[in-house]
Amino acid sequence: MSEKKGIPRVALPQDVRLATLAVREGLPPTPWGENSEALFLTSSFVHPDAATAARRFANEEDAFVYSRFSNPTVTMMERRLAALEGTSGCIGTASGMAAILITILALLKSGDHVVCSRGVFGSTIKLFQDFAKYGIETSFVSQTDVDEWRAAMKPNTKLLFAETPNNPLTEVCDIAALAGIAHAKGALLMVDNCFCSPALQQPVKLGADLVMHSGTKYLDGQGRVMAGALCGPNRLIKDVFGPVIRTAGIKAE
Ligand SMILES: *Cc1c(COP(=O)(O)O)cnc(C)c1O
Repeated sequence: MSEKKGIPRVALPQDVRLATLAVREGLPPTPWGENSEALFLTSSFVHPDAATAARRFANEEDAFVYSRFSNPTVTMMERRLAALEGTSGCIGTASGMAAILITILALLKSGDHVVCSRGVFGSTIKLFQDFAKYGIETSFVSQTDVDEWRAAMKPNTKLLFAETPNNPLTEVCDIAALAGIAHAKGALLMVDNCFCSPALQQPVKLGADLVMHSGTKYLDGQGRVMAGALCGPNRLIKDVFGPVIRTAGIKAE
């Protein structure tokens, strides 16, 4: 997760532009002074002594421990994407779908309700439908008609999920209007920002609470990577999603 106090930050001026953040934010280089981001292809990390290792495994001290939940390569990507999306936290995930799966596992429980556009990525629809068997019901509504979203709200609605522009039709949602509908009922708005990337749209600035990406698509841009990410406030990323991330095995590695 992006906010690791014990792990140093890159020293950047206050008001750097997005283009600078996109190449500079992340982790400082190692003592070797490499120019490009280093890749840390390791499952685990070495600790100076047993007592320090115990504290780190107990999550009492920030350090890289085990790549199922923390790895410098992934932290580099998380910090950079959080900076670009304007959120305090980010979790790198094994795929775009893993970002949605983590959200459902961490945020929702049996008896909760979701409102989702019926124009979202096909696998997203299937994943929400699959959770009906665990008692999490999803209503699918129009991509563009805000009134349908408002009418679908129930007392137990916890999450609104929008993908805008959507894949493949590129129809847009009114993010600010959906945020208003969600927040009036104490629900959260999550936006799949895959098609625009933060270079063109920052949903949090329009009122969204959570932003997800399929890193497989434009963030990689070359068709060589499977990855995803979930960006949001650290109070959710660390305290709500963090414990799920530690055990679920669906984080980026
Ligand atoms: C591909 C895609 C996903 C799923 O991402 P994967 O990395 O394939 O799991 C989710 N949303 C959108 C808009 C996509 O295009």
